[in-house]
Amino acid sequence: MPIYEYKCIDCEEDFEELVSGMDPDVSCPKCSSRNIKKKLSLFGMSGGEKPAASSGSGCSSCSSSSCSSCH
Ligand SMILES: [Zn+2]
Repeated sequence: MPIYEYKCIDCEEDFEELVSGMDPDVSCPKCSSRNIKKKLSLFGMSGGEKPAASSGSGCSSCSSSSCSSCH
């Protein structure tokens, strides 16, 4: 059974719900609101999708952010 992540629009509570069936009856565990939206299911993922090799504040010839060796 898939686990979906939901976000309550009323109180902005993030919660997960184990969904079974075609028409899940999900409400916010914090304020019992039905005003929620389903987010994408995330299996085994944590954190954002920030790329590891972003340019950031370093230079383009090295991937370091402090860049003390190439200048
Ligand atoms: Zn809520």
